[in-house]
Amino acid sequence: MNLFTYEKASTPSAAIELSGKSSAARYLGGGTNLVDLMRETVECPETLIDVTALADGIDQTGDGTLMIGGAVKNTALAADMRVRSAYPVLSRALLSGASAQIRNMATVAGNILQRTRCRYFYDNASHCNKREPGAGCDAIGGFNRYHAVLGASSSCVATHPSDMCVALVALDAVVHVEGPSGRRAIPLAELHRLPGDRADLETELRPRELITAVEIPQLSFGRRSTYRKVRDRASYAFALVSVAAALDIDDAGNIRDVRLALGGVAPKPWRASKAEAALRGQPATEQTFRAAAEAELSSAKALRDNGFKIELAKRTIVAVLNELKGEGA
Ligand code: SF4
Repeated sequence: MNLFTYEKASTPSAAIELSGKSSAARYLGGGTNLVDLMRETVECPETLIDVTALADGIDQTGDGTLMIGGAVKNTALAADMRVRSAYPVLSRALLSGASAQIRNMATVAGNILQRTRCRYFYDNASHCNKREPGAGCDAIGGFNRYHAVLGASSSCVATHPSDMCVALVALDAVVHVEGPSGRRAIPLAELHRLPGDRADLETELRPRELITAVEIPQLSFGRRSTYRKVRDRASYAFALVSVAAALDIDDAGNIRDVRLALGGVAPKPWRASKAEAALRGQPATEQTFRAAAEAELSSAKALRDNGFKIELAKRTIVAVLNELKGEGA
C-alpha cells in the first residue's frame, strides 16, 4: 500500500472542497472495497476523504418516497422497518451481500460505487483494460465463469458485483449527487456505464461528485417483491445470477405491472426491460414468465465458461415470478 493522507469531512461541501486539493483524492465510505484495491495497488489515492459522518439517515416524505443518506450502513438499511415492509426486495438483496461484518461497515454510496471483482482486475500482472486502457483483457480468453453475458464488449466482460443495486434499479431509484457545479439527480439505471471501448469509465459521475442520497419513489406493489441470488455457496459469495422482482396481478390473473432486474450477468445492474414489456398485460402463467425470460436473454452472449448463466437466468426469472404469484396481493 502506498502512503496517503486522511481527512474527515463534516459536510458534503467540505468533502468536495477537500477533494479539489489533490488530483488523486477519493471519498472513503466503509472502505470495504477501496481498501482492498489500495492493498493490491490497483488504486493509489493520495488523499482519502472520509464521508461516513455525512448523511446517514433514512427519511420518508408524505408521498411515501424514501430518501436514504449516502452514508447509511447496509445493515441499517436492510433492518429499517419501512424498507422491510414496503420493499422486501431491497432488504433481501442487502442481506444476501457479503457478511454481517462487511454490511456493518459498508455504506449505500460505497455499495453503488464498488468495483468489479474480476480476478484479472485485481492482479497487476494481468492485462486489464479497466485498470490500464488499451492493455487488453485477460478474462476474455481466460477463466470467465463469473463474467457477463449481457452488455459486455470486446474491451471488458466484467460484472457489477452489487446486490443492493439490482434491487434499487428495479425500484426506479434515483441517485442524488453533489459536486463543484452543484447538485443533480441521476436515475440509478443511467449511473453505471456499459464498457464499450472504455472499460475504465464506469459511471456518469463527474470529477469530484459525491453521492449524497438515494431516493426510492413510492411503489404501490413493492410489498409483493423479492430478491433471489444464485451463487456457488450459501454466503459470502457474489451472484452467478440474481433476480430482483416486484409483481402486480389484477383480479383476473393478468399482470398489471412488474419490475424486474438482473445481477451477476452484466457490467451494470441490469433492468430487464424486454421481459417487463413481455409480461405487462399478459396472464400470470409460467408460460408467460418463460417467454419473458427468453425475450430478455435473447441477446445474451456466452464466453467459454459462463454459458450456463443464460439458462440459469431464465430459470431464476421464472422461479421468482412464480414465487411472487403465489404470494397473493
Ligand atoms: Fe479487466 Fe474487464 Fe477484462 Fe476483467 S473483464 S480483465 S475487469 S477488462
